[in-house]
Amino acid sequence: MAGLHSTLPWRKIEEGRSMTSLYRVQLISLLAVMVCLFAIFPFSGSQQVPEFCAYGESECGSSSSKLLIKGGTVVNAHHQEVADVYVEDGIIVSVQPNINVGDDVTVLDATGKYVMPGGIDPHTHLEMEFMGTETIDDFFSGQAAALAGGTTMHIDFVIPVNGSLTAGFEAYKKKAKKSCMDYGFHMAITKWDEIVAREMEIMVQEKGINSFKFFLAYKGSLMIRDELLLEGLKKCKSLGALAMVHAENGDAVAEGQKRMIDLGVTGPEGHALSRPPVLEGEATARAIRLAGFVNVPLYVVHVMSIDAMEEIAKAQKSGQKVVGEPVVSGLVLDDSELWNPDFTIAAKYVMSPPIRKPGHGKALQAALSRGVLQLVGTDHCTFNSTQKALGIDDFRKIPNGVNGIEERMHLVWDTMVEWGQISVTDYVRITSTECARIFNIYPRKGAILAGSDADIIILNPNSSFEITAATHHSRTDTNVYEGRKGKGKVEVTIAGGKVVWDGSALKVAPGSGKYIEMPPFSHLFNGIEKADAAYLSSLRAPVRRLKAAT
Ligand SMILES: [Zn+2]
Ligand SMILES: [Zn+2]
Repeated sequence: MAGLHSTLPWRKIEEGRSMTSLYRVQLISLLAVMVCLFAIFPFSGSQQVPEFCAYGESECGSSSSKLLIKGGTVVNAHHQEVADVYVEDGIIVSVQPNINVGDDVTVLDATGKYVMPGGIDPHTHLEMEFMGTETIDDFFSGQAAALAGGTTMHIDFVIPVNGSLTAGFEAYKKKAKKSCMDYGFHMAITKWDEIVAREMEIMVQEKGINSFKFFLAYKGSLMIRDELLLEGLKKCKSLGALAMVHAENGDAVAEGQKRMIDLGVTGPEGHALSRPPVLEGEATARAIRLAGFVNVPLYVVHVMSIDAMEEIAKAQKSGQKVVGEPVVSGLVLDDSELWNPDFTIAAKYVMSPPIRKPGHGKALQAALSRGVLQLVGTDHCTFNSTQKALGIDDFRKIPNGVNGIEERMHLVWDTMVEWGQISVTDYVRITSTECARIFNIYPRKGAILAGSDADIIILNPNSSFEITAATHHSRTDTNVYEGRKGKGKVEVTIAGGKVVWDGSALKVAPGSGKYIEMPPFSHLFNGIEKADAAYLSSLRAPVRRLKAAT
């Protein structure tokens, strides 16, 4: 099968890596195993602890590097068929009916079940320093949780260190060494100068990053002004990188917070009341218009309200390339628990933009089913009850963020497929394929095709799931989906060709996850130059005028 690998362009980068660097990674990973073993126990309490394997142990995960998934319905974004899937050395080698194999191959029976690409979560924050603390899931525990829920890759946001992209990238590379599944990076831009502009080039051309996030909220920390946003959009355009926005009006949010405090509202409900949907709609519209003015694609992260969604729909109607990403919490929850008299319960729902009133979620689901919104993320950003209690007297100090990396695949299946809103092929598109296409790693990821990475889930539509903090794999002690039940269960997760989740137990190895480099100029950039040329020829300017005679 070596011949097959070398004909696939997205394989070449990896195979070119030197063996010495591989050994170095193994050594560091062994150290990471030990660190992780110590690190995970203090937080795990009564929760399940994943089984550990050292990196390099070929026995970890499955007993063989050869796998045959037999008789399932293989689903891709545009097609489904009953077929077998044969995997060797982490790569899908063949997808066709009735594949015969020898005794050295592990066979998994998937009759009556769906065999689908593993989920890709486009929006997570693992081990992120934020609001005076740090998210409690790191690259190992967060990814272990993801794998138990059928997600096999995520894209996390690198936060610059004192504005330095390079320092941020190096810091996140270090954090991600304990990874047990594949991951990629977006980069946040929090200030602007010539150095940042130059570093953006380095990130795209040398570090495998093809997206940058701009915060229109978090005044005084991450927020940037329109002037910087315009600079950033222009730079993204020239680099073929996707501009992403957290769209809330940060100045108005600060004003809204002041209003609530003046009214004596200091509890978690003040969070929702201080930043209503209109502020999300305004910032979304502004970002879209500025991206349209520069003529560059735009990706709006965590679309939480009808207001923001309708701005996206309007822009798409006019032909603008805008991608809208709802997150699971926005799709399936509403804000009622923020009024819960128990602070611990109320605080766990605090995220930004806020979870909205009943009605928004349903509208976002409908937008997702008709393609106005294209893919589902989580914004997995977990803080435990102790961390959330930092804001016990002031909602402005409650660390923002909810869980979701483990729950996304199940909740989207139950809400969207089980309730008849989308097809099974659509499910694959919005949980995996679209993300791979947008971030330019398709069909290495997001597909069950010969040559694709063997990141695969087997989902049993007749089985059921139940979510509770007592059994989830995240380190946090609460779950915003506590008690939710639904149909459809991920019974097997295969990551990098190995069975890492069998429906009840995890077998994960720190250091086994790979950094996935994402090249610039995705399909979203097709036609940009032509549109620019059409714009220039439409100007009928400059007009040549005769100098007036005196
Ligand atoms: Zn955000
Ligand atoms: Zn986020």
